[in-house]
Amino acid sequence: SKAVKKGSALFFNSQIDEQVKRDFAIETELRTAIARSEISLVYQPQIDVQTGQIVGVEALCRWHNATLGHVPPDEFISVAENSGTIGDLGAFVFYQAMRDIRLLNCTIGSPISLSINISPKQLLEPNFVNEVTAAADELLFDPQMITLEITENVLISDLSVVQPVLTALRDHGFKLSLDDFGTGYSSLSYLSNLPMNEIKIDRSFIDKFLTNSHSESMVKTIIAIGEFCELKVVAEGVENQEQYDRLAAFHCDLIQGYYLSKPLPYDELVAKYYSLSLD
Ligand code: C2E
Ligand code: CA
Ligand code: CA
Ligand code: CA
Repeated sequence: SKAVKKGSALFFNSQIDEQVKRDFAIETELRTAIARSEISLVYQPQIDVQTGQIVGVEALCRWHNATLGHVPPDEFISVAENSGTIGDLGAFVFYQAMRDIRLLNCTIGSPISLSINISPKQLLEPNFVNEVTAAADELLFDPQMITLEITENVLISDLSVVQPVLTALRDHGFKLSLDDFGTGYSSLSYLSNLPMNEIKIDRSFIDKFLTNSHSESMVKTIIAIGEFCELKVVAEGVENQEQYDRLAAFHCDLIQGYYLSKPLPYDELVAKYYSLSLD
């Protein structure tokens, strides 16, 4: 009936209203979050299936705010992108991550690689290549040990702008990874024209590939694409041994997920994997 329709429209409007208010609060607080040291990083290990050793970590950012509490990155990254603060946030992330992992690599036998998420907006800022290169230079971090993760959908919307940026990054030595692979619409020829080093199988396929034959085919196909295009294949969101064993049998290269470790603050990472305490 009309009344119900009206009622649900009203409810819907007030939900939108709440979301607008929250996004505004996030936007306002986010502007000063770095200065107030509210942003921190956690690191999730990546394990080489062949050796069982940790070979890298992915840096993921965390935000705790006094009034908003813990705000998940899925929520605040998009606000940062739309309010023009993603550049500062992104720069904070790559500086801090390089500082931390450089310190670790100075103390351990075999250095690990560092994966950093780069937002499409950040990638398209004219100064991005200079900034990330300057950071690696300044912190004496070999770009060959840094993997920049970008999501598949950025390629679809802005390929002509993105391609030269990716090429410049590769020329500086950075490794490139296609995140959330399988969720977008890239074709094989598309992929072979880009200077990629790695693809990450999206968590949504890993979630159900043991019981869902479509997801299983996707996982196998992505691994085959990786082999064919000579790309490393990373599975993310691996939560149990059955998934791990199956991915190992499929010859997936690297595994990341709660089964091995949640993303950890730097000190906990060092304690768990290196039984060291650094000062
Ligand atoms: P992503 O890059 O796809 O990161 C993987 C997400 O899966 C992370 O969520 C991670 O904590 C979570 N995860 C890892 N293993 C498991 C598992 O076994 N099970 C489940 N259920 N989840 C797992 P998180 O940290 O909340 O980050 C969400 C997204 O926010 C990231 O997705 C990434 O797109 C974005 N993000 C996080 N940090 C940054 C950053 O520093 N810069 C940018 N631009 N984006 C970031
Ligand atoms: Ca990622
Ligand atoms: Ca992902
Ligand atoms: Ca994601």
